[in-house]
Amino acid sequence: MQELLQSPQFQRCSRYGNYVALDPNCLFCKIITGDIPATIVFRNENVVAFNDIDPQAPTHVLIIPTLHVENAAELAKISPTLTAELFSAAAQIAQTNALTGYRTVFNTGQEAGQSVFHAHMHLLGGRGLAWPPG
Ligand code: 5GP
Ligand code: ZN
Repeated sequence: MQELLQSPQFQRCSRYGNYVALDPNCLFCKIITGDIPATIVFRNENVVAFNDIDPQAPTHVLIIPTLHVENAAELAKISPTLTAELFSAAAQIAQTNALTGYRTVFNTGQEAGQSVFHAHMHLLGGRGLAWPPG
């Protein structure tokens, strides 16, 4: 994370006090700052998780880095550690929700269904999940 602290994007989040690198025009960045309301289910310095507004399963949580990057591939390039933190957060949230099985998904690119270009992991659970997905 050290290299990120040098980035001009980095600023202190006024509401929560931690350091974040945001895009003022991004929907998920506005959720991080609290400017757009969401039901936050997990939060630490590096990761925020909130309920999806259009849930596709009884548990449908979006887990995002407090860093504006376009997709999971960019995130992995910038910080493997932060990428791994999303998976750790998913495991914790699954445990909190007593999920015995769950699915984590990153949609990358419009063709794959990505509609918000701030990297996010979907955590889906609470029902049987078919394979292959649609
Ligand atoms: P994507 O299609 O990019 O993989 O996922 C974007 C997700 O963001 C969708 O599942 C969509 O329902 C969710 N979403 C879009 N706008 C909002 C919002 O304003 N609040 C919340 N909580 N979720 C949103
Ligand atoms: Zn963003």
